[in-house]
Amino acid sequence: MRIDLRGRVAVVTGASSGIGRAAAVLLAGAGMRVVLGARRADRIQEAAERIRGAGGEARWLRADVTQAEDMARLVGEATAAYGRLDLLVANAGVGYFGRLESTPLAEARRLLDVNLLGTIHGIQAAVPVMRAQGSGHLLLVSSIVGKRASPGNGVYCATKFAQVALAESLRLELAEAGIQVSVVCPVSTTTEFFETARARSPLRFDPTGPVYSAEQVAGVILRVARRPRPEAMVYPPARLMVILNAIAPRVVDTLVAAYWKRVRPGL
Ligand code: NAP
Repeated sequence: MRIDLRGRVAVVTGASSGIGRAAAVLLAGAGMRVVLGARRADRIQEAAERIRGAGGEARWLRADVTQAEDMARLVGEATAAYGRLDLLVANAGVGYFGRLESTPLAEARRLLDVNLLGTIHGIQAAVPVMRAQGSGHLLLVSSIVGKRASPGNGVYCATKFAQVALAESLRLELAEAGIQVSVVCPVSTTTEFFETARARSPLRFDPTGPVYSAEQVAGVILRVARRPRPEAMVYPPARLMVILNAIAPRVVDTLVAAYWKRVRPGL
């Protein structure tokens, strides 16, 4: 089933930079009316103006995903302005690079607040509207490390696994309500993500492995918005590792350890 996105309404969290911003621009380019949320109001205002300048429809609202009321206001902005909500892109996310044994609990809580509770807040704000409509699509931006964890970012991986679990559970809960649920799993993507996380982290991580641009990941988000599916890997061969990990985790441990020894000696 291919959805005609023209005239439909999307809310994108974390739309001030990287994947979220690129997704908002692409979805608007496909004819969606988009509402951009993030904490940096100047950035989302600029992105919304750019979309409008290109002939699209966009609104913006300063919204912190850790605040349930902010997510309710963001969804309210979409329904007040456009009368419906067809797609929630739950994209806002932050990282921390350090060994789990010495990760400060304040950092762990911050990741859980933004990546996990932030996703839940968005879902809880969007689902009642979609239920009432009898249609909608929740699209969660997880990660390849939400399918197979790597060393040096255990809490981050846990939050990304948690998003996959939320999506699996929701797919079954919402099947009868006509609401689609998808997870998009990017690999390394050149955004502000690494710089922002590095500023708070003891380890230095850079994009590694197959590296994508935010626009390429947004392209996958657009395809999934048009043709909802449970899970999309931005780098499709990564699925082989996920399958192998399900049947032989020790083999994947060995492969991942060897890879990480090469790219991050000393971790
Ligand atoms: P990014 O450029 O740093 O964007 C992160 C976005 O999240 C920003 O717009 C930021 O906006 C927003 N954000 C952070 N905390 C927030 C909060 N409390 N409330 C609302 N928004 C908040 O990084 P990105 O790479 O595009 O990341 C987007 C998603 O992709 C994340 O979920 C990340 O885990 C996932 N991902 C990234 C990569 C990668 O290699 N980059 C790989 C796999 C998955 P404000 O600071 O303005 O609030």
